[in-house]
Amino acid sequence: MLHKIAGKVSIIGTGFVGSTTAYTLMLSGLVSEIVLVDVNKDKAEGDAMDMSHGVSFVRPVKITAGDFKDCHGSDVVVIAAGANQKVGETRLDLVKKNTKIFQSIIPEIVKYCEDSILLVVTNPVDILTYVTYKVSGLPASKVIGSGTVLDTSRFKYLLSEHTGVDARNIHTYILGEHGDTEVPVWSLTSIAGMTMDEYCSYCAQCEGYSKKEIYEQVKNAAYHIIEKKGATYYAVALGVKRIIECILRDEHSILTVSSLITGQYGIQDVCLSLPTIVHEKGINRVLEVPLNEEETTLLKKSADTLKGVLKEIGM
Ligand code: NAD
Repeated sequence: MLHKIAGKVSIIGTGFVGSTTAYTLMLSGLVSEIVLVDVNKDKAEGDAMDMSHGVSFVRPVKITAGDFKDCHGSDVVVIAAGANQKVGETRLDLVKKNTKIFQSIIPEIVKYCEDSILLVVTNPVDILTYVTYKVSGLPASKVIGSGTVLDTSRFKYLLSEHTGVDARNIHTYILGEHGDTEVPVWSLTSIAGMTMDEYCSYCAQCEGYSKKEIYEQVKNAAYHIIEKKGATYYAVALGVKRIIECILRDEHSILTVSSLITGQYGIQDVCLSLPTIVHEKGINRVLEVPLNEEETTLLKKSADTLKGVLKEIGM
């Protein structure tokens, strides 16, 4: 299955998230070409120069600033263009501003990249993944949102801090919207085949933990980071790199990316995150994993919230 040596990735929007993603990809050795596109051409050019000056320290990679036409031939086009979340602003507040930007850039991207996979990162990511799917006319399998990949990683980190176990050995998901209605799947959370509660009583050191508190920390992480430093970008860049890795290496890994939902849990015609098999053609399969009643109800509520927003913007 490991047949792609190095790919081409274009990044539209080279702000905090786009440029950190480019740098993360540069270090990864996964790609041989990175194209940076931004309305602020100086920013894209400055980033390309700054990163290129380090190529002697990494595996060969060509990093250039360009235009949409230079994105032709990309395996993946990452879209991180748009306004970011301001202090006190919810992700859903951003929707109108960024939908307008997407309605202008998606046709330009598709003109040159009809064979590429589009990977949406701009918030509100689930709404904009749906907008991208609708505006691009591409098959749903080729339109992916970073979804709750980041939130799932935040969840694993916090559970790892609590248990002292490597975050990679904690199996769990945050599903639904990347945002205020996201759903922690405690019923499927496991460590070495044990549920969280089983693991904690087995450990016998646990002084107890609050599921609500951990969930609140995951859900509000971005707000806290934005309050402290204005933007979040390192962890999301690693998440985006991980998604691209699954695509370029045809991994069939399961990630909580956002994509078009087609009937799972009775939900359809909306983009949100479920455990999803990702391969070289994008979305391979969106899994309907066994959730308990409360989780299913919360997931449906999350879908309804997103549908409400889509309705507000006439989608
Ligand atoms: P930023 O303001 O630093 O960067 C946005 C960039 O987009 C700017 O450089 C701007 O010039 C560019 N841009 C705007 N309109 C454009 C257009 N029409 N064409 C090309 N480029 C254009 O913002 P940021 O901190 O990098 O965040 C980018 C987006 O990523 C935001 O929407 C943010 O909320 C989102 N984000 C998502 C996640 C996630 O998990 N999905 C995590 C963090 C941030």
